[in-house]
Amino acid sequence: MRRELASAAKDMAVYIKALDENLAESPWRGAPLKSAASASAPSPYPAAVPAGPADTSMTKQPPADMDTLAEKVGKCRKCGLGHARLNAVFGVGSYKSKVVFVGEGPGFQEDHKGEPFVGRSGQLLDKILETVLGLKRSEVYIANIVKCHPMKNPETPEAHGNDRPPTPEEISACRPYLDEQLRAIKPLCIVTLGSVATKVLLGIDKGISLVRGRSYDYPVELFGPGHPIKVIPTYHPAALLRNPNLKRDTWEDMKLLKSFLENGKID
Ligand code: SF4
Repeated sequence: MRRELASAAKDMAVYIKALDENLAESPWRGAPLKSAASASAPSPYPAAVPAGPADTSMTKQPPADMDTLAEKVGKCRKCGLGHARLNAVFGVGSYKSKVVFVGEGPGFQEDHKGEPFVGRSGQLLDKILETVLGLKRSEVYIANIVKCHPMKNPETPEAHGNDRPPTPEEISACRPYLDEQLRAIKPLCIVTLGSVATKVLLGIDKGISLVRGRSYDYPVELFGPGHPIKVIPTYHPAALLRNPNLKRDTWEDMKLLKSFLENGKID
C-alpha cells in the first residue's frame, strides 16, 4: 500500500511538473477564476436531446462515413456562425477511440487552423493526455459542441479576445453533428471539458466545479439499450491556464478516466 501511494505521488509530481512547464509561459497565470456560485447559475443551454439528433433529416439519412459528415459541416450555414467563421472545425483523432473529449467551440487558433484544441489550451490538453493517460492526441477523439468560432464581433475574425460562448440557438443548430460523430465512433466514455460542454451534454444547471470528480450516465441512448456511455466532466484546459490550482482536480478526473478505460468500470 505504501509503495502504491509513493508511486501515485511520483506520477502526480511528473504530471504537475509537465503542466507547470506549460503553464509557466501562460499570460493568464494567476488570473482569478469565476466562483462556484456564479458558475452554478441556471443554465441558458438546452437540455440534452433525449432521443438522438433534433435534425431528423440527418437521422433518416445518416452519412456514410465521417468524411461525408465533415464535408457537410464544411459547407454548413445552419446558424450565423457559419457566415463569419474562417474554417469549420469538425474534430480530430481516432475514430476507434474509446473516449471522446468535447469542448464548447473553436477559438481564434482553431478557427484559423480548422482543428480543435490547437492553441495553448490544446497544448495543455496534449500534456494531460500524455502524462496521465499515456495517450497521444491522435489516439483519442477531440471535438466541440459547435463547429464554428463564436465571435463577439463576427466582422473581425482576425481580432484576438473576440471569443464568446455559443448561444443556445447555435448549440441547438449544431448539436446533431456531434451526435452523428458519437454514433460513428461509439465511445465508451465522453469527457466534457468545462461548464458549457458539461451543461449541454448532461442537461444540468450546475457549474463544473460542482459536478466534476465523478462519472455520470450519458442521458441519450445513442446506440440503444445496453450500450451506456459514461460522462466524466472536468475543467476546460483554458481554466487551468487561468488558475493552475485546478490541475490537481483535473489529475483526479483523468485518473478516473484512466481507471475506466483500463478496468471498464468506475469504482
Ligand atoms: S456552428 Fe454548426 S450549425 Fe452553425 S454553421 Fe457551423 S456547423 Fe453549421
